Amino acid sequence: MDKNLTVKILRFHPEKCDGRRDCEKACSQVHFKSDEGGDKSAIRIIKDGKSYKMHVCNQRGLCIDVCPVGAITRRKITVWLDEETCIGCQSCVGFCPIGAMRKSDARVEPFKCISCGACVRACPNGALELVEVKIDDVKEVVYHKLGK
Ligand code: SF4
Ligand code: SF4
Repeated sequence: MDKNLTVKILRFHPEKCDGRRDCEKACSQVHFKSDEGGDKSAIRIIKDGKSYKMHVCNQRGLCIDVCPVGAITRRKITVWLDEETCIGCQSCVGFCPIGAMRKSDARVEPFKCISCGACVRACPNGALELVEVKIDDVKEVVYHKLGK
């Protein structure tokens, strides 16, 4: 993998999060034209004691090689799942090491964060930001923010 490759990932500032999950609702709009959030959102805000944690794809792209039909590809700054190509086998959902390939009962194809920034724009508190980082730094940034 090209070590200079950069990806856009979400960075979370838990001290600014009020837990209202406007980000999840915005993400549901992107993927399902719905504002339900929850299992229709690629980003999840999880209660963590008195604070919150963010859980979302880190665009690392380990799932790319797992898909038997080549439906997952790297598109510059993000990892993209092509719904037209996907056959709904769920291999990527089971494989994802951080559990960030999402599945909703609303459709057979999984879905994931595409770094569109809708959640960032929806947060009234500025608790989310999209940052471009070198792919080698992804693990550190995201896992640190997850508290791992
Ligand atoms: S569910 Fe779709 S994208 Fe995921 S591995 Fe199977 S065919 Fe590929
Ligand atoms: S960047 Fe877009 S796809 Fe990713 S979690 Fe936010 S709204 Fe969803």
